[in-house]
Amino acid sequence: MIRTLLLVIVVAVLIGAEARASREAGPSLAVAEGEGGTQLGQIGKGVSIAKKANDVRDLQMTDAEEQQLGAAVSERIRTRYGVVQDAAVHKYLALVGGALAQGSTRPALPWTFIVLDTDGVNAFAAPGGFVHVTRGTLALVKNESELAGVLAHEIVHVTEKHTVKSIQKSKAVQMGAAETLSGSAGLMEKAVTATYDNIVERGFGRAEENESDEAGVVLANKTGYAPQGLSAFLTTLKERNKASTEKRGLFASHPEMQERLDRLAKQIASQKLAATATLEARYKKNITYKPVPVTAIATVEAGAAGLAGEEKKADDKKAEEKKEEPKKKGFGLGKMMPSGGGEKKQAQVTASGGARGVDPEKDSKGGPNPNPVPVKVAAADIAAFKKEGSLP
Ligand SMILES: [Zn+2]
Repeated sequence: MIRTLLLVIVVAVLIGAEARASREAGPSLAVAEGEGGTQLGQIGKGVSIAKKANDVRDLQMTDAEEQQLGAAVSERIRTRYGVVQDAAVHKYLALVGGALAQGSTRPALPWTFIVLDTDGVNAFAAPGGFVHVTRGTLALVKNESELAGVLAHEIVHVTEKHTVKSIQKSKAVQMGAAETLSGSAGLMEKAVTATYDNIVERGFGRAEENESDEAGVVLANKTGYAPQGLSAFLTTLKERNKASTEKRGLFASHPEMQERLDRLAKQIASQKLAATATLEARYKKNITYKPVPVTAIATVEAGAAGLAGEEKKADDKKAEEKKEEPKKKGFGLGKMMPSGGGEKKQAQVTASGGARGVDPEKDSKGGPNPNPVPVKVAAADIAAFKKEGSLP
């Protein structure tokens, strides 16, 4: 695992680190006193934590541990879905993502943008700066401003530490007063599993999605991209899933996509977000994937996490789907799941009761190669890329 952690280091966006360093130490992630701070490169600023030997506390981590956790979660996501082994595509993602990350609240993270080898439409943000989008998402995206909308939304999940906060809040992983995440392999394993489940299986809650929408649109606009990019993409996604928008159970209380689109439109108008770049030609030059209809996506059993998942052709289960449409047309961006564990349990139950509950987007079959595709993108490359696109 350590070997892979080192390999994963890909796109270091080294901009303005000094100027923004003070914003790096997020207040929600307290640091235990007396842990190997210098070794890890980050030391908490006098945060004091109860230290009784028997005390159990919420998951805590330094920025370095957050990145270590994110790298391990990314490895799991890459193993589940595979990675498109195309350096040119990764470089393009790194340039668009890097331009956005520069303007984010955590520009000095080692931001890494990974293209997953699957037809399902999805995006996953892991802690520490690991942003994953699927080939299926890129196929559906029509121009660079839409891609920017998607990436900016995911970047905000990272900068706002949504996953880590969710695990802390749910108390899914707790630690002893003297324990550190990097100092306990067992604890790290637990945290990786909880984080993966939070990101891939359950998704974020409504508040987190709204926050990512809102701040993401501002970030895309600030970078020079038309702020309508995210809405345009979500509209395409809505059309794609039109035939299966049945809402029951947990879904019944979830906000409609239309409500979300209305919120975005209102925000763009009231905040007078007026950037205009869409850069369709540049997008089409770099990304040439064709979308695969939901019904034609090959899937694995829900919850199998791809490790021992049995492939199932969409055709084989069309009959079942007619009887009961999949509940979740999930999308890292579109899912508005409650952050409790109910949804996942239910998915496992329905999956074990047959192939029902399979979500073609999330449960799509992945590619065979989990290896990251390292690309180097320097600040000068991003500057040239922005200039070429007339981005400010
Ligand atoms: Zn999201």
